[in-house]
Amino acid sequence: MKIITSITMLRQILDNYRRQNKSIGFVPTMGAFHKGHLSLMRRCRKDHDIALVSIFVNPTQFAPGEDLSSYPRNKKNDVLLAKEENIDIIFYPSVKKLYSGRYLTHINVGEISEELCGKTRPNHFQGVATIVGKLINIVQPHVLYLGQKDAQQSVVIQQMVQDLNFPVKIKVLPTTREKNGLAMSSRNKYLSVEERKQASVLYKSLLLAKIKINAGQRNANAIIKSMRRNITENASCSIEYIACVDTQTLKPLKKLRGKILIALAVRFGHARLIDNILINMKD
Ligand code: AMP
Repeated sequence: MKIITSITMLRQILDNYRRQNKSIGFVPTMGAFHKGHLSLMRRCRKDHDIALVSIFVNPTQFAPGEDLSSYPRNKKNDVLLAKEENIDIIFYPSVKKLYSGRYLTHINVGEISEELCGKTRPNHFQGVATIVGKLINIVQPHVLYLGQKDAQQSVVIQQMVQDLNFPVKIKVLPTTREKNGLAMSSRNKYLSVEERKQASVLYKSLLLAKIKINAGQRNANAIIKSMRRNITENASCSIEYIACVDTQTLKPLKKLRGKILIALAVRFGHARLIDNILINMKD
């Protein structure tokens, strides 16, 4: 496995692989690997001749006061885990390499960036779209692997790829969870043992929503209310949002029909956790 920090060197290596008609799969990450990251790597490895993972804690997607400086970083362990997954290349650029000198260009994916998490993290998705756009241009992969865990991020990136005609296919893979249902996240490291236990209520509340929908409930407010009650009765936390939205526009729905996304963001102590489920209603 190669660990590359230079953009020029990475391009040379990948150009060479492309000339040999090798397919390239790419998993962009911020490191501190957990089983969610590993599931993306495994699929990428299985699907491609060359499996590439980037590790870059992107400063421009963090607002002042967010957890940029404390965000978990564990290069040594990440390298070991990527090796175990038979990854070919880790791209590990510095901030200076990606935002050198006079950096002026930003990708803004319009109104879908302003829904859900965009309401409390106003520049977050501009930071995400810009870095992923840059990484796609550097790596030029055939397929980009993303996790459903960050549902809005996947929608924003898919929209960007479509709007800007990036020649890359996107695969969104299911959320990997702890045994108790908690979605795996690098930020789970901020949770105490008790918070980690309590945070399992997030997925339980999403499953409760699913049960209610399967039983015929179509009123979004009623679903949100029952989820809110379920969470507040079982955990000491602060709910940022719970929303039932259209899977493409991410706009809130009143009456549920078709394909919907139920998403939430909840704070447990220092940890801001997100989770979601997709539901496809037949009627
Ligand atoms: P991150 O390092 O948190 O930026 O995540 C890198 C990629 O892994 C993103 O596409 C995430 O959506 C994905 N990911 C993070 N957590 C999970 C999870 N629990 N299950 C599946 N994919 C995940």
